[in-house]
Formats: sequence, C-alpha cells, structure tokens
Amino acid sequence: MEGITGAFLERRVPPRFRVAAGLSCLAGLVSLISYAGWLFDVPALRDFGHTSYPAWPLTALCFLFLTAAMLCRLTDKGQRYLIPFLIPPVAIALLAMFDAIAGLQSDLWTRFFPDLVSASAGTNVPGRPGSLSVVTILLLATGLAATRSKRPLARETILLIGSAAIGVSITGAALLLIADQAAGQHRIGALPSCISGALLAFVLIYAQSREGPGWFFGQREPQTAMQRAFLPLIVTLPMVPVLLELVLRRMDLLAQTEAEVMIVTGNMLIVASLILWAMSQLGRQRETAVELSHALDTADLILATGTGTITHWSLGAQRLYGWTPREAIGSNRYLLTRARCEMRSKVGPPIGGKPDEHELIEHRRDGSEICVLERLENILTPGRAPMVVHKVADITDRVRAEEAMRSSEERLLAATEAHDVGVFEWEVDSGTIHWSPGAEQRLGRWTGAISSFEDWADAVVPEDRDAVLETIADAVANRGERFSFRYRLFSESGSVRAVEGSARCFYDVEGNLLRTVGAVQDTTEREAQETELRAREAELRSIIETVPDALVTASEDGLILKFSAASERLWGYDAAMVLGQPLHMLFCRDDQEEFDALVRSFETGDSGETVLRNARSREGRDFPVEIRLGRAQTETGATYSLFLRDISQRISDEERFGELNAELAHVSRQSAMSELAADLAHELNQPLAATANFLAAGRMLLERDGDRQRVVEFLQMANEQTVRAGEIIRRLRNFIAKREVEMHLEPLDQLIRDAVALVLVGTGQFDLRLNYDFDPRARVVFVDRVQIQQVLVNLLRNAIEALRGRPVGERQITVATAQREEGMVEVSLTDTGPGIPEPVLKQIYTRFSTTKGDSGMGIGLSICKRIVEAHGGTLTAENRREGGACFRFTLTAIEEME
Ligand code: ADP
Repeated sequence: MEGITGAFLERRVPPRFRVAAGLSCLAGLVSLISYAGWLFDVPALRDFGHTSYPAWPLTALCFLFLTAAMLCRLTDKGQRYLIPFLIPPVAIALLAMFDAIAGLQSDLWTRFFPDLVSASAGTNVPGRPGSLSVVTILLLATGLAATRSKRPLARETILLIGSAAIGVSITGAALLLIADQAAGQHRIGALPSCISGALLAFVLIYAQSREGPGWFFGQREPQTAMQRAFLPLIVTLPMVPVLLELVLRRMDLLAQTEAEVMIVTGNMLIVASLILWAMSQLGRQRETAVELSHALDTADLILATGTGTITHWSLGAQRLYGWTPREAIGSNRYLLTRARCEMRSKVGPPIGGKPDEHELIEHRRDGSEICVLERLENILTPGRAPMVVHKVADITDRVRAEEAMRSSEERLLAATEAHDVGVFEWEVDSGTIHWSPGAEQRLGRWTGAISSFEDWADAVVPEDRDAVLETIADAVANRGERFSFRYRLFSESGSVRAVEGSARCFYDVEGNLLRTVGAVQDTTEREAQETELRAREAELRSIIETVPDALVTASEDGLILKFSAASERLWGYDAAMVLGQPLHMLFCRDDQEEFDALVRSFETGDSGETVLRNARSREGRDFPVEIRLGRAQTETGATYSLFLRDISQRISDEERFGELNAELAHVSRQSAMSELAADLAHELNQPLAATANFLAAGRMLLERDGDRQRVVEFLQMANEQTVRAGEIIRRLRNFIAKREVEMHLEPLDQLIRDAVALVLVGTGQFDLRLNYDFDPRARVVFVDRVQIQQVLVNLLRNAIEALRGRPVGERQITVATAQREEGMVEVSLTDTGPGIPEPVLKQIYTRFSTTKGDSGMGIGLSICKRIVEAHGGTLTAENRREGGACFRFTLTAIEEME
C-alpha cells in the first residue's frame, strides 16, 4: 500500500503531477469566477448563463477550499495543511444538510452578499448550498482525507468515492440543463459547482490511478466484472432521486424543502449503498489477494532490483536463510548469502534447461551451507523500475542424495571393475537388458550390443542358451529367489568366451517374473587356467605313478596324505589302508620321533640332500630306503613330500663291489710279489747261505774240538741270519695274505720303512739312493697297515721303474712325512725320474692306463687312490718343476696323547 501513496507523490512522473495540478487549478478558477460574480455583481459569472441557478458564495468558497486541499495533497510540503483546508467545506456542507433536513433557514446563508443572495432566491433557500453540491463536497472531502490512509483498500475506496463524486456532478450538470425549463424555479445545483466538483473528482481519481485515467475508462485490464458494472451505476444512479423529485414536483406532490431533503438523502443513500456494496466486493477481493499474498509469502521468494538490492524478503526466504525481512531488505541478494555458483556434474540437464535457472551454494545466517536452485524472472511495470523475482528452492537434500547416489554408483562401478564383474538388469516384459558401465566390453562386446533379450540369445552359444533358459524356467516355477548360470558367449571378434554369474528374481503379486538383476563375470581365462591345471595335475599324477621312486606326502603333524602306486608296490599296503595314518608306520622305528628326526634332518640340511632310513613293509620285512624330502608351505600349514627309493640292491652291489676290490688288491699284491719273487729268492739265499756257512763252520769246530766259544758265536750268527730270513718271509706273507681290513694305530716311520724294505729287496746293485725326511710330529696314524704298505709299495715300485732309465748316481727317491692341519698327515714320494707322461697324468687313476706295455696292468694307482680315500685321505700326483714325479697322500693322524 505504501507504493500507492508513493506513486501519488512520485517525483519521477512530473507530467502526471502537472495534469493533476492544472485540472485542480482549473476547478479553483471556476469557483473563483463564480465567487467573483458575487463580488463584482456580474450575474453571468455566478451562474454561467443559467440565471436561476447561481453557485452560492459559500458553495464557491467550499470548492476553493477543496481545490486548496487538493493542491496540498499533490505536493510534499503541503500535506499537513490538507485537513485544515478540508474542515471549512465539510462544516458548511454538514450544516447545509442539517438545515435542509430540519427545515431551518440559517442566517449564515445570507451573511455574504445578503442583498444579492436574497434577490437570487427562488423556491430554494437563498445562499444555502444545493443538495448535489453538498453531496459532492462531502464525497470529495472524504476522498481527499482517505488519501492519507495507509489501510488496505484505501486506494479502491478513493477511486469509488471519486467516481461517485463525478457521477453526482455530471448528474447535477445534466439535470440543470434539463430542469432549466422543465422545473421552473426549482434549483438543485449550479453549473460552476458541478464543473468544479467534476474536475476535482477527476483529479482525485487521476492521481490515485497508477495508469492514469485509463483505469477510469476501463482500458486497463479490467479488475473485476463488479468494477465494470459499478462505474455506470455510480454515474447514473444519483440522477434517480433528482428525476424522482422532478416528477413529484411537477405533480405538486412535494414541497421544495422535502424535495431537497429527498435528493440529498436519496443521493447519500445511493452513494453509500453503492460504496458499501463495492467495498464488500473489493473487501472480498482484497481478502483473496491478501490470502494469495500470504500464500505467496510463504514461498521462497525474494524480490530485488536489477542491481540485486533486496526489496522484498518472503517468510519462506526467512525460513530458508534465517534473516528476517528487516535484516535482509536493502542488502545485496548474493552478497548477503555469500552465494557461489558451483559446477557440479549433474545427473541430468537442469530442469527445463533454462539459462535463467542455476544452482547456487549459499550460506544461511548461521553460516551453514545450503544448495539452492534459483530461477529468475523479470517484472517490467511501465513507469516503475524493473524488478527481479528470485524463486529459490532448497535442493540441499536432493544434491546430497544425488551425491550419495553418485558416490555409491562410483563405488559400485569401482567394485565391479576391480572384480571384473558386470551388473545387468533384465526387464522381462519389455525384454530390455541394462548393463553397468563397461560390463559389455568386459564380455568382449561393444556397449549397447546386448541391449535386448534377442541380442543376448543371438550372442550365446545355442546349447548353452537353452540350458540357461531351462535354469530360469526352473527358478520361476519354484518362485526361486535367485539362480546361477554359466554359458559361452560369442565375442565381437567371434571367439568364444566363458561367462558365469547369478541373478535375483523379482515377481509381481501373481508370481510372474518381472525382472532379474544379477552379475556376470568373464571366466574364460580362469577356465583356461583350470583346464591347464587339470592337465598338469594329470601329467604329474601319471609321472608319479610311473616313476620307480615311491611318493608319500604327509601333513605337518605326520599323517599320510598321499600314497603313490610305487609306494603300494614297495610296502605292500593299499593306499586306502595308510591314508590318514601316521607316517612312522612305514619305518622300522615305530614312533613319531622317526618322522620328526627326518623332518629335522631336512630342515637343517641343504635341499636335495638325502637320508637313509630303514623301512618296514606290510609283511614286516625291513629294507633300506634313500629318502629325498620336499617341503611345501601353504596357508593351511606345511606338507611334506617324500621320494623314497629302495636301496637294498644298491647296498648289496656295493658290498659285492667292495669284495671284488679287495680281491683285486690282493691279486695286485700277489702280482707285485710274484714280480719280486726272483729278487726275494736272491735275498733269502743270502741269509740261508750265510746260515749254512755258519753252521758248517760250527760243526767243523765241534768235530775238531775247537774253540767252543767260537762255536757258540757261529751258532749265534747262524741264528741271526735265520731270523733275518724269517723276517723277510713274514713281511712277504703278511703283505700277500688274503685278509680282512684291520684298522690299528701304527707308527708311521716303521710302516714306511717296512714297505721300503719290501720293495728294496734285491735292488742292492741298482745303486738307488733313498732319503727319508720324517716329520717328528707325524708319528702315529690310524690305518690298515697292509693296505697303506700296498700304497707305498706301488708308489715305490713305480718310482724305481721310472728311475731305471736314469744314469747311475741320479737315481734318488725321497720319502717324507709332514703334519698337516686338521689332524692329517701327508706322506710324499719324490723321485728324480722323467716324470709322468702328460697324457697319462690326465687319466692317471683310470684303470688300465699304463705306459709299461704288457708288463704293466695300469691298476696300481687306482687301487692306491681307493685305499687312501677309504682311509679318509686324498691322493694326488704331479710332475716337479725340477724333474721327476711327486705323489702325495694324506692319512688321519692320531695325537700321541690320544
Ligand atoms: P703300472 O705300473 O702297472 O703301469 P700304475 O697304475 O702303477 O700301473 O701306473 C700307471 C702309469 O703311471 C705307469 O704306466 C707310468 O707310466 C706312470 N707312472 C707311475 N708312477 C710313475 C713315476 N714315479 N714316474 C713316472 N711315471 C709313473
């Protein structure tokens, strides 16, 4: 309502003001002219040519006051003089009305220009304002006073009052023209009063109407049908009492005073009832408008100027943002809420896709954030500054829901991607199939390639399709909640891919399948891997079944898990009899320790190491087995694989081989001795001949009774020679005897000297120089004496043999001992011969490699190597830089204390 009075005084519309002021002045001028008619006694000015109907001086004064009041109303500064200017005309009008009703004739009416007024008197009371003038004055005064009101409907009331005043004035003027002749001396009003009244009434309406006089003439959008009906009524109805008076007066049924009273009251009644009627109509409209405005106010609306200054802040906006209208009005709409336009990825395009619609992130009064959808609408009112309606809707929840939905969709997508799963929905009625993003590509098809049931049926290998359809039919028949499937699908390239998945079924109330939602996975690679795995398993199984080694696998706690066919053959058990049984039942020591010890021996040792154990068959036969153990650590614990080989045959072979070797060594010794036989015979011959000589000499002395003491000496010497011969024979016999291996502690020096003595028998003429270089620390060894002597004999004989070609004086052999670290003694034989020929050196321990032609067997060194290694030592051969060969071998030394 503020805007209405504001518009009234709007400085920005000076043309309107000028029109209103001009018309008011014209009204004042008319009254002034009629008053001047009295003043200067010019009758034509008083009645504008209607001699019987002058405008009384008081009436003219009333209109002058009203004009002044109207001009005050039109200016800002004159506002406060409005009421004071209204009091005199209202007082005069009320007095005239009271005077007419009461039938008095007040002196007041003839106070101004008494002569002129009385002279002008007709049937009417001279000087008293006529009834229509009274009505007009009261209406205009009421209308002007109402312009100060800020109450609702004030504007409408003023417009109605103004309209009524115009109606009364025009009626007065019209009747004046008719009544002039028809009613004779009867007077109801004067032309100047009618003109002034009509002009002022028009100004009243004009200044109130926003669109100017168009409203009055109904050019504006018609407000209501009531308004259309009201206007002609209010203009024409005031004529009714006047016409009635005319008729009654003509028939002489009515006295003049009664007629006056009837006109005034009749008009007042008509105007009052019309106004009441109009007011009630307008009130109803207003109520509706107020309700509408309240309803609109609850909407989230903001009115702002083009530059964003808030002019209206609805209750809805207050509820949404928290600011009261008082706080918000005058602020900038966007600065107030610290609004920012944020681009969010939208699920769909903005509603309607209008450019003047956008989403904003704003702040409430309490600082919290809200997301709103704002729509803008421009309101252009002629003559007024353009307005922008900001309709806002809180979409925070929607945005959050969308975000939650989006992130849940993203999560689902990530999950399906991570697991290589595709999600689908099949709408049974429409036959449409929807896929999660990327699902079809994962199955080797383009996006959209399988968008219907028909597409799917075409893509699936026919026999698999029938199987899937059967599965679905079964599920539907049992109202099953879900079903699983497996089928092969032709990919875009034509290759066949394996697909696996499951789906949930949704039924309507009648149990018809509506849709299924499920997940699928491409299992081509997995199935290929499984097939390969199965093939490998079968391969492995066949290998295990065919290898001669038995395979037994056991759990960490020693229970048999697998028992191969070879194991069954070896132990005589069926697999079924031993599976789940403790592993130690397969071994001699029938307890858990066996397995534990076995496992320990492998855990500490190197992989691939073997151990020997005695196994026990189902019949109780014990047999040696060589075990290789493997350990596999799985998530559920360790499993052990035992590859077992029966080595009884190998052991017996080795035993036999050992026997053969001993035999060979014996043969070799015999052969060596047989070669020495001639030399031995010569060697024995000497002591035997000496013995014989000593005995003969002794017998001769006894026969001649010679020196008995000398006889005893001869016998003594013969005995020594016999002992010497016996010693030679003993050594020989010891050396070549076939015997068991006997390990003893032996003095190393003596052992070497005995061997040398054996070899050197009969080599006196050979002129060999033999040197000893014994390490005093290396004294005792733990050996089989004969075997080590055999080694020494072989090496010495080879050396002597090699020295044969050397000139006399250069034939030299050195036998040395040396204490080595780690409890070993080294014996070395060095000769000054030609050295070992290079080809022989490369394969010196290979049997039957000799350079001695038929005389050599080529087994001596290989026997030596075997003997030395059996004693835990090593034998090496090399040629010396200064010439000759050097053989070294090591033996286990024994500390004297030990
Ligand atoms: P045999 O003596 O029966 O040939 P051996 O195994 O004892 O068999 O010797 C193999 C070969 O080694 C000999 O034929 C010889 O050529 C060579 N050999 C061994 N000892 C010596 C040595 N001290 N000097 C040179 N050659 C040697």
